[in-house]
Amino acid sequence: PRAPDAPPPGIERRRTRRITVGHGDKAVPIGGGAPISVQSMTTTLTADVDATLQQIAELTAAGCQIVRVAVPSQDDADALPAIAAKSAIPVIADIHFQPKYVFQAIDAGCAAVRVNPGNIKRFDDRVADIAERAAAAHIPIRIGVNAGSLDKRLLAKHQGVTPEALAESALWEASLFEEHGFTDIKISVKHHDPLTMVRAYELLAEACDYPLHLGVTEAGPPPQGVVKSAAAFALLLRQGIGDTIRVSLSAPPVEEVKTGIGILESLGLRQPRLEIVSCPGCGRLQVDLYKLTAQVEAAFDGFDHPLRVAVMGCVVNGPGEAREADLGVSAGNGKGQIFVRGEIIRTVPEAQIVETLVEEALHLADNQGSH
Ligand code: SF4
Repeated sequence: PRAPDAPPPGIERRRTRRITVGHGDKAVPIGGGAPISVQSMTTTLTADVDATLQQIAELTAAGCQIVRVAVPSQDDADALPAIAAKSAIPVIADIHFQPKYVFQAIDAGCAAVRVNPGNIKRFDDRVADIAERAAAAHIPIRIGVNAGSLDKRLLAKHQGVTPEALAESALWEASLFEEHGFTDIKISVKHHDPLTMVRAYELLAEACDYPLHLGVTEAGPPPQGVVKSAAAFALLLRQGIGDTIRVSLSAPPVEEVKTGIGILESLGLRQPRLEIVSCPGCGRLQVDLYKLTAQVEAAFDGFDHPLRVAVMGCVVNGPGEAREADLGVSAGNGKGQIFVRGEIIRTVPEAQIVETLVEEALHLADNQGSH
């Protein structure tokens, strides 16, 4: 079997330089063959330290590995030391125009800063100072270009927000740091249209060896945002492009994390934890499948062993269709046939299906080692 972190056959990860976000036991490597990490961004007022830390704790519990907080005001910048110290995962400060907040974020112990040097150069040329201070603190910087932050000169040159304009803008922004010897950089070139975004990342991947942070911006609410992100990420990740991902959804950020993890798992780029598969239902359905699946999902929430559990809606075809599941149920006519690796091992009344599945999953997990 392949190593847990190895990409699946057919995917060769793009070679990039490596950066590290966070220090000590909070360090998350990005690029250079490191596993693809999942990020999200808080939606609380950053200045509200308690609410922000609460949301970061929820994100951490959901599997988020890096969190970004927006820093649009002085109050937000003042909250950074407490947030960075108490968060269990690295905190990235997202700053648009104010160099002074960048310096504050570095002093606050933030793990990285997202800033576009072009914005700062335009208003107050402090790029050299930022490069020097970030290098001294071993803090990487994400350059994040999107339609809104695209350099006006390039917008005119390319006659709009094209993939070429996004990629060239990002490389120009990177060059502003490179001029000062700073290359501890990762780049994103987000766009709301998956195909524009994909092409922009492809161009960037050809032109530089910086690690890339993937995102479809303003992807929208689920399911649209999930679909757009999954489609775009799959096209890139299949080519080995992408070192860290953020799914942007108009939904609670925990959903972004779950979606991001799910995308990596479905592409074989991360070992699945527990996977629940359920049949789509058809004219043979003999049970309230949606309800049963929801109950099974709730019962297995937090079960951290790599098992595939199938919930099938009829006793005729269920075990056969779910042969690749470790364990499952074929439900119908008030009963559930519990099967393990395709073999029916017992039949229980419908009310006992969920508890029996959990019991059998614990047995399997015990036999396989830890759970
Ligand atoms: Fe239909 Fe049964 Fe297959 Fe579900 S398991 S899709 S109910 S045949």
